[in-house]
Amino acid sequence: MTQASEEQRLILRTVREFVDREVIPVASGMEHRGEYPFALANQMAQMGLFGLNIPEAFGGTEVDYVTFARIFVELSRGWLGLAGVIGTHLVLADVVVKFGTEDQKRRFLPGLATGERRGGICLSEPNAGTDLQNISTTAMRDGNVYRVNGSKMWITNARYGNTFLLLAKTDPSAKPAHRGMSAFVIEKGPGLTVSRDIDKLGYKTVETCELHFQDFVVPAENLIGGAEGQGFVHAMNGLEAERLNVAARGLGVAQAAFEEAIRYAQQRVTFGKPIAQHQLIQAKLADMATKIEASRLLIESAAEKKNRGERCDMEAGMAKLFATETAAEVSFDAMRILGGNGYSKDFPVERYYRDAPLVVIGGGTNELQRLIIARRLLEKYAVS
Ligand SMILES: Cc1cc2nc3c(=O)[nH]c(=O)nc-3n(C[C@H](O)[C@H](O)[C@H](O)COP(=O)(O)OP(=O)(O)OC[C@H]3O[C@@H](n4cnc5c(N)ncnc54)[C@H](O)[C@@H]3O)c2cc1C
Repeated sequence: MTQASEEQRLILRTVREFVDREVIPVASGMEHRGEYPFALANQMAQMGLFGLNIPEAFGGTEVDYVTFARIFVELSRGWLGLAGVIGTHLVLADVVVKFGTEDQKRRFLPGLATGERRGGICLSEPNAGTDLQNISTTAMRDGNVYRVNGSKMWITNARYGNTFLLLAKTDPSAKPAHRGMSAFVIEKGPGLTVSRDIDKLGYKTVETCELHFQDFVVPAENLIGGAEGQGFVHAMNGLEAERLNVAARGLGVAQAAFEEAIRYAQQRVTFGKPIAQHQLIQAKLADMATKIEASRLLIESAAEKKNRGERCDMEAGMAKLFATETAAEVSFDAMRILGGNGYSKDFPVERYYRDAPLVVIGGGTNELQRLIIARRLLEKYAVS
């Protein structure tokens, strides 16, 4: 990815206007009614958002990492669930761009870039989330194909998507386990059942499902990179890329909650003056805005490092940790400022409050981010 060009700034402006005009007015109503945003997702495809990290040579609209993060902030400011339609889709694209064979890039990237192919990542299972080496789904070689058996849990975009990244064990007895794990691009077909849409607290409308594989056939040429035993590295790399997008999603939710709160605080009168004139409310607003600004700086600093091609796993982890905790704290503070109205579906704050925990858990839980940050700190400050 390169520095932002005029074209990239134009995409960002277009997304901002799209969110203000088309998304914010309908988001809460559609979310409460459980309507899937087909038309909005198609508009996002027309804007090139399904190909944000895919090179132009494959039909994508590749943008630099700062623009990438800002686009996720804008979308999530409007509706976190809508950002979810492209969130893990872009992780799949990232893994194919970085590790796919030339044939895989040619077959999958153009469709992923236009949104004709839509999907996500099938990593988590009922018994393995943070501890991905504990997955039990297998993909066993049988001539020119692999046969997949097992279950995947929490798979976003699984019902309306058609193309996914699958992590499975090709050598279940390998020790350590990650050496026996491989990644595939899979397309829906016989043997793959979307068995359940999981009913969630928030992050609604974008579907999150349970999948079952029974003798599901994957052509051997869909093994990412053409080599077995690399899947764990591919998946970890994809999750690393996801950290910035999840951090940016957290910032978007926090920003929306803050803006609602500061608007309300200037209109709502108690004891003869707007609540924004009470110092305890002012302290809340000041803390909220400070955390939001700190989140933005952490995200953009990590994104700039990534633009320069420097290692930034610790910085992206810090950004993800801080921005998503900020989303959870600020959305709750916004609810307090709105009082009873914050708890009501007449205002969007209850949606931000229900959406925020997803970014704390998804993209690697914040407990995991702390472990990653600490590991890097101990490397950096090792006492010899
Ligand atoms: C709405 C939603 C959408 C999702 N979408 C996808 C998707 O598209 N694809 C996909 O593959 N997955 C998806 N996930 C799954 C998500 O990645 C996992 O929920 C997450 O990784 C945590 O795994 P888990 O739920 O199994 O929790 P667990 O791994 O069981 O963890 C439970 C708790 O223990 C903590 N913990 C675990 N290990 C440690 C440790 N070593 N030290 C300290 N604390 C620890 C965790 O941080 C957490 O607090 C989604 C989840 C949700 C809720």
